[in-house]
Amino acid sequence: DELPVDPNRNNYVRRVQECIFSYVSPTPFTSDVRLVAVSEDALENLLDLAISVGETDAFLQFVSGRDGFTDWGPLAHRYGGHQFGVWAGQLGDGRAHLIGTYINRFGERWELQLKGSGRTPYSRGGDGRAVLRSSVREFLCSEAMHYLGIPTSRAASLIVSDDAVWRDQFYNGSLRRERGAMVLRVAKSWFRIGSLEILSHSGEFELLRKLVDFIITNYFPSINSKAPNRTLTFFSIVVSETANLIASWMSVGFAHGVCNTDNFSLLSITIDYGPFGFMESYDADYVPNTSDDEGRYSIGNQANVAMFNLNKLRLALNPLLDSKQQQQASQVLRGFPDLYYKRFTELFRAKLGILGENDQDLALISSFLDLMASTRADFIMSFRQLSEISQDQLRSLSIPQEYWALQDIGQQKQFLAWIDAYILRLKRNPEDTDEKRRRRMMLINPRYVLRNWMAESAVRKAESNDFSEVHLLQKTLCQPFHTQKMAEEAGYSQRTPAWAKHLKVSCSS
Ligand code: AMP
Ligand code: MG
Ligand code: MG
Repeated sequence: DELPVDPNRNNYVRRVQECIFSYVSPTPFTSDVRLVAVSEDALENLLDLAISVGETDAFLQFVSGRDGFTDWGPLAHRYGGHQFGVWAGQLGDGRAHLIGTYINRFGERWELQLKGSGRTPYSRGGDGRAVLRSSVREFLCSEAMHYLGIPTSRAASLIVSDDAVWRDQFYNGSLRRERGAMVLRVAKSWFRIGSLEILSHSGEFELLRKLVDFIITNYFPSINSKAPNRTLTFFSIVVSETANLIASWMSVGFAHGVCNTDNFSLLSITIDYGPFGFMESYDADYVPNTSDDEGRYSIGNQANVAMFNLNKLRLALNPLLDSKQQQQASQVLRGFPDLYYKRFTELFRAKLGILGENDQDLALISSFLDLMASTRADFIMSFRQLSEISQDQLRSLSIPQEYWALQDIGQQKQFLAWIDAYILRLKRNPEDTDEKRRRRMMLINPRYVLRNWMAESAVRKAESNDFSEVHLLQKTLCQPFHTQKMAEEAGYSQRTPAWAKHLKVSCSS
């Protein structure tokens, strides 16, 4: 009710002004749709729905953009953004519709958004659709991130249709017929840095103030509504929470792929899963998106681009700040690297299972990462196997075969010296036992993440209507810290199979 909506109920593509949303209905698929997967947890614990709702026709109508929306919607959100460092002007929900808000039994408010649901005023040259391939990836990964303990949007359902969606293929420039899909995404809020940037760039300062007030009131209840510095406080929270988010991405080797300001949430949750990837061989220059030629969004550059994005947020907020507050905001932003390294160190200290703090900890962490970099060891499994192996086995020069990632690191002679330093560091906590260390580490070092080859394998089957691997991955990734029989049989904790060594992921989705 509080935020202005463009009254023009039309979905033709245009530049929209003086509003936050546009009324626009989803365009349902024309051919049969089928439900591919639902998240039981998202349904039950976010939306108070039993999993059996997935079998009802009303649910299928709702999640395919046909029926059942609130009377104030559906809406497409107007936002802008910096893409690959350059101001891109109006972007907005070009293929997504906000179809409702739900307050659940815990009193939490969730915003429901369909993605792939048709054209909007913000579609520019796009068709408003999403293909099965990218929708499977988003569905699986956003849920997987949640179970890794990383703030993220959720995915409640995934449907596929027989409607044709044409997408370009790699290299040869020809189009391939794919099938349209829709994901029902759920988040506390979908506002992004770009939501504020567009208002600032077009001089709509009153609307900017209104939206910032709305966001603070609704999503930052800890900020006193009367406080004169509330916008500045809001900015500092976004800065520190974004630092935490990027550090947590790094702790699981997650590269988002398209860290544009329109894909950075003001609530510092992971949103807009596109050409993301989990780093396999440790490499700070790992770039998941093959269209990112310059490696702007390499995994190791994510903290830098986060700071770039937060600086764009700072500039967008400037019209609401007096000159003293503007200086304070700059100072807050200068604190970003410290916040980031503090959280990074905390997380990696925990990944190594070391308790307390010591001046040498960062060196211990860095040298482990350096060893992994020089041996191209697998990031996820190196930490996991370090969690599983006993100190005695680690110390005895022959590491058993099952710890293949550690064996890879062992090709570097310096690994022995590192092990000595590590064990010495563990000894600083005499009350700790090796069993406790291993238990602790196994709870935070995942055995399973959504590697590209795993997603690709599930997608290939899904394209011929075999959704079994989507379901197996979904089940596996709900418990990424627990060794599971079927996941083991599928090779999810083994080396990447040879067929998948050169997989590519692009923006085309
Ligand atoms: P992304 O970088 O994928 O988050 O998308 C950037 C912008 O392009 C957003 O405004 C999207 O809504 C829009 N967009 C991406 N794909 C499509 C599509 N197929 N149709 C319409 N708009 C799209
Ligand atoms: Mg986006
Ligand atoms: Mg996208």
